[in-house]
Amino acid sequence: MEELSHWIDGKRVAGASGRFADVYNPATGEVQAKVPLASKAELDAAVASAAEAQVKWGATNPQRRARVLMEFVRLLNRDMDKLAETLSREHGKTVPDAKGDVQRGLEVVEFCIGAPHLLKGEYTDSAGPGIDMYSMRQPLGVAAGITPFNFPAMIPMWKMAPAIACGNAFILKPSERDPSVPLMLAELFSEAGLPDGVLQVVNGDKEAVDAILDNPTIAAIGFVGSTPIAEYIYGRGCSNGKRVQCFGGAKNHMIVMPDADMDQAADALVGAGYGAAGERCMAISVAVPVGDETADRLIEKLVPRIEKLKVGPYTSDGMDYGPLVTGAAKERVLGLVEKGIAEGAELVVDGRDFQLQGYEDGFFVGPHLFDRVTRDMAIYREEIFGPVLSTVRAQSYEDALAHAMDHEYGNGTAIFTRDGDTARDFASRINIGMVGINVPIPVPLAYHTFGGWKKSGFGDLNQHGPDAFRFYTRTKTVTARWPSGLKEGGEFHFKQMD
Ligand code: NAD
Repeated sequence: MEELSHWIDGKRVAGASGRFADVYNPATGEVQAKVPLASKAELDAAVASAAEAQVKWGATNPQRRARVLMEFVRLLNRDMDKLAETLSREHGKTVPDAKGDVQRGLEVVEFCIGAPHLLKGEYTDSAGPGIDMYSMRQPLGVAAGITPFNFPAMIPMWKMAPAIACGNAFILKPSERDPSVPLMLAELFSEAGLPDGVLQVVNGDKEAVDAILDNPTIAAIGFVGSTPIAEYIYGRGCSNGKRVQCFGGAKNHMIVMPDADMDQAADALVGAGYGAAGERCMAISVAVPVGDETADRLIEKLVPRIEKLKVGPYTSDGMDYGPLVTGAAKERVLGLVEKGIAEGAELVVDGRDFQLQGYEDGFFVGPHLFDRVTRDMAIYREEIFGPVLSTVRAQSYEDALAHAMDHEYGNGTAIFTRDGDTARDFASRINIGMVGINVPIPVPLAYHTFGGWKKSGFGDLNQHGPDAFRFYTRTKTVTARWPSGLKEGGEFHFKQMD
């Protein structure tokens, strides 16, 4: 069985703690590799050598740093097939979806190639007599990223690319469920010319995460994962004086107005609800048709589409989605389905008996559709993170809006309507970070920023786009006066510069 490693100082390094986690092939249910779980001592050593490497990297001019990112993009495109295949084998998602995972990360790397422009400071000439004032953006030193299993290429790249472009060294602690692609990314960065030590991949679990939270050299932490862990990391990281941004779970509502194109809405819901087996933080998990007539029309359109979904391993072409990531994830999702039934929701499409010949031990879950879900039910309150779509019947637009507004999560949402007034009102009033108008998964592109509100996001700045350059730098402002601008005598008071 393959034994995975860490990536330290430009090479693969075996784990020294003696602790390992199993990495599954979710399609077959087999353990295909073991990943080492770093001790605090291993993490601290990786940080110490990253800090050393950062000194030279931080002093390298931003254009030279950007050239490394440019070459990294070329290598990502060269190795796209290999990356996607490895990703699918550990995560379970289809190969086209895995390519999308790499692609949406790559686009952020492309954006970060603009670092020389994005890092330019501000300058005020003659702020006072002979006085000039300027601000510059400097790297923080060593930053760390802790990432989830569901986008093992994209989210690590959303973190490492801006951090490195800004002149920091970066410690990545990827998900222990699918660590191979993050290791491959580090290898490609090294091939692209990144100096040893600037990017370290330390595999691990809570022990490594706690070591990151408590390491005094780490200046900033970017986290993506579930909300309970996001809250924990935000609290402990901030109290240790670090700059922290954490992105958590989601329960994304899609409101369907009576005037919506119902075929378009149903197609959108099926893709957004069941794509990647529902294991996306921007998946739509709640459909909110407005009015019973709309609800009946929508369900009628949805059912045949859902029943036609093709569920299978990434090795078969033409699948709509694959297995869940682990057996535990499968158990949890099926447990929530049972809870939904017990609490009185109507199971319109039942995927509980789904079986795939030859893959009986895989973590596949058939698609489920619930109707008449209400606010008090666990399937409404909790993030399911599986191929389960809930329908909540709203009596009016205001009722639909209130559902999305009152939910504790605030990552993404969408409205399907032909009415511009309603769409505009929705976008303006909703208390959710990313909004789609007739777009079910409104993931912002690399040059905008990505982030949720409420229990989906903690911290002041979003991911990627200009916010990433603010997060991974700090501002220093210099006030300069040269001897010709000096008046005789000292100055003892704050005063206006005139
Ligand atoms: P997770 O919270 O279980 O794990 C995320 C990371 O935290 C992993 O690296 C893991 O090793 C670490 N971790 C897990 N338990 C820990 C603990 N007790 N102490 C310290 N560290 C711990 O999340 P996941 O299951 O890998 O990913 C799915 C979740 O991520 C979903 O809730 C999903 O909505 C969310 N997500 C959010 C976004 C977003 O941008 N808001 C994007 C993708 C995924």
